[in-house]
This record gives sequence, C-alpha cells and structure tokens, in this order.
Amino acid sequence: MTAAGSKPQVHKKLSRDLSQLAEEMKRFSTFKQVMDYSQFFSENSKLRKHSAIRAMQKYLSIPGMISLGGGLPNTQTFPFESISVKLKTGETIELKDKVLDKALQYGSTPGDSQLVDWLRQLQEQVHNPPYQSYDICVGNGSQDLITKAMEALINPGDTILIESPTYVGILAFLRPLGAKFLEIPVDNQGIQPDALEEALLNWPDIATRPKVLYTVPTAGNPTGLSTIYERKKKVYEIAQKFNLIILEDDPYYYLQFKTPLTPSYFSLDCDGRVLRFDSVSKILSGGMRVGWVSGPPALVERIVLHGMATNLHPSGVSQLLVHTVLNKWGVNGFLEHTRSVAQFYEKRRDAFLHSLDTHLKGKAEWTVPEAGMFVWIKLPINDSFDLITNKAREAKILLVPGVEFFPNKRDTGYVRASYSYATEEEMDEACRRLAELL
Ligand code: PMP
Repeated sequence: MTAAGSKPQVHKKLSRDLSQLAEEMKRFSTFKQVMDYSQFFSENSKLRKHSAIRAMQKYLSIPGMISLGGGLPNTQTFPFESISVKLKTGETIELKDKVLDKALQYGSTPGDSQLVDWLRQLQEQVHNPPYQSYDICVGNGSQDLITKAMEALINPGDTILIESPTYVGILAFLRPLGAKFLEIPVDNQGIQPDALEEALLNWPDIATRPKVLYTVPTAGNPTGLSTIYERKKKVYEIAQKFNLIILEDDPYYYLQFKTPLTPSYFSLDCDGRVLRFDSVSKILSGGMRVGWVSGPPALVERIVLHGMATNLHPSGVSQLLVHTVLNKWGVNGFLEHTRSVAQFYEKRRDAFLHSLDTHLKGKAEWTVPEAGMFVWIKLPINDSFDLITNKAREAKILLVPGVEFFPNKRDTGYVRASYSYATEEEMDEACRRLAELL
C-alpha cells in the first residue's frame, strides 16, 4: 500500500496538485461560526441515541475481555468454509479462517476498520481535504448514507436547495419526508451559483432558512453534465456566506473522461460543511452495495446513529470483497482501474452520440457528457411523458421521461437516455426507432 501523503505518479496525472489549494482554503475557514452542528440536526435526529448493545462492541477487542453481553451468533455454526474470488485478470484470492469469520459475523456500524482506513488513504490522495478531522462511514451503497443524512438534517416542511433536474432516487426519499424544494437550475457548466445566491438573498425573513444544498457535481443524473471547478468555488463561498451544509453526491466522480479530475467540494472544504458521498457501484459493482460518506464527525455520527437503529451495518462479506481487491491494487491500481472504466464509457458515449447524429440531427437536441453514462435529450414536444411511457414502449425503446427529474414536477420535452448497457447496435436501433416516432 502507498503511505498516505506520498503522491504516486499516477495520482499526479489524475488529479491536480491539491496541496496548495488545501492550504489556501484553510485561510478562508469560517469553522468557528459553524462549530455548533446541532443547529443543523432535524428533530428526529436529535432523538437518536447510541444503541447500548452496539456501543459495547468497541470493548470486544480489549485483551482478556470475556463477553457474555452481546448476542453474537457463534461462527462455528455457519456453513461457509471459504470464498474463492477470481478476478478477470486471472488472479485468485482465497478468503477463509479468521478473515472470513470476521466478515460473516456482525460488524461495526461505521464499517470495517480496515476498509475505512483504506478509503481514508484514497480520500487523502485524491481530495486532500483542508478540513482534516473528517470521519468516514461505510454504508449499503451511497443511497443508504445520503438518505440517512437527509433524515438527519431535514424536518418535514423544511426547504432543501436542490439542483434541478436531479437524481430521481433522492426525490423519492425527500417527497415523503415532507421536504419543499427550492430548485437551483443547472446548465452545461453545472449548477448555477448566481441562481443559488439570488434565491438565498431573496429568502423571506419569516420563513425557516434552507440549510442544506444537495448536488450531483459530476455527470449529473439525468443531464450527464458536470459542475466546473470555478462554479464549485463560488458555490462553496455562498455556502460559507449563508451557512449551508453541502451534500456532495458524487458516484460518477471517477467516470470523468478527461484528467486531471475536477477537484471536489470536499477538496475545498476548509470549514467542515461538506458531506461527500462516494460509491463503488459504478466502478466495482452495484450489487455489492458499498458506499462511503466523508465529512465532519458530528454529522457522520448522525448517520451512524441512524444505522445503529436500522440496518446495523453494511454487509461484512461485501466489505471484505471490496477491501480485498482495493488492498491488492493499492490506491494507484484502483485509480488505474477507474481509468479503464471511464474509457469504456467514453467509447460508448462516442458511439451513442454518433447514432444520435445519424438519426436525430435536426429533430432533437442533446447534451455532450464529459463523464458518466447519461445523455439528456430535448425532444421537439412540450411534454415527453406520453410519448416515452406509452408510444416508445410500444416501439420497444425504454427511456425515462424528463418530468421525473424535476423536484417540482413540470411538463418537459426532455428525456434521459443511458449509453451504459445496450450494445452499440442496439443503441443505434433505439435512436432510429425514436426518430421514427418523432
Ligand atoms: N446518487 C446518484 C446520482 C445515483 O445516480 C445513484 C445510483 N443510481 C446513487 C446516488 C446511488 O448509488 P449507490 O448504488 O451507491 O447507492
């Protein structure tokens, strides 16, 4: 493994030199004004307490401790002898004995400590955050952690600042939570800081101020568009001015087609006001359900307290598999792997854009994503819902109507298309069929 702090070759190529940035940002810290994190907690979260049983877990590793306290099942009764993993490179890893036993047993709520240590190395090398006392908590994918963070920060009736259009999976959680949406529009350079500032400047004195901004800065789902670095800096300054917490939902970060990778909000965070969500879903496996959040301990603790009372912890076996492969690769190997995944999608993007050009030029408009797996297509109609949910399905093309991605629903001619899965021939045929429908 590469020691944290030493910047290996591949990292230099991938990321900008963030050390100067980190130093610069520290000078702008308004941390002293933000320190009281309890001002951000929802009423629900304030009621969450440490589980008495879960809290005992840290004592288990003390030498000589005899545990009659927990309800741990005895691993001798489990039927699994070993797990053999063969990577596509041909290497085989055998997981057995104590290592496997640990993964099969109940584990700690914030995640396996070895995996957490590895992820910290990654965060240091890739983001080098100026706010250094951050914690990391692993979850069942990043969605698990984002929704817990939202529950911890938002009361029913609160307004959340949310980029628009945005990830539909988060809207599905926020609507029943009773959140109101203040939409901040995105364009081809990402979220618009001027619109954010204006909304906050014009906020009526009598209404509870929004305190949370949710953003998907890389390859936004559905637009495929990313927020440029200059805008991130402006948004961060606005967050400082208006005392906001930024929820940086960034599962497509490593799917940027060009390097150096754009610095994250986390790498600008000198105050401790960013909760950054990462995921292995798009780069190792979606089914493994492993994601992680990095951010100020007081906020990460809210997520952990929620986990203690709900899913207890992410799957031990998934964490072991993920840690085993990451540890084998090291940070450099991981970054190299993500490059090959990004190149895979870039090639598909090119093929899809070519098919769009061939069949839909003059009939529709679309974004040219520089990362991720989505293209946001504007059809020459006021509302795409009927065409996409009925006629397109009859013609055997699946697309998502744009209305789903607007927090405050509205008629829109947009649709989301993904170039991640279908073959190049299928993508071409889908474009041909869509053109025919139009
Ligand atoms: N955020 C965004 C923007 C996503 O597109 C997704 C997956 N569709 C998620 C979060 C959830 O990812 P995970 O598999 O890590 O829960």
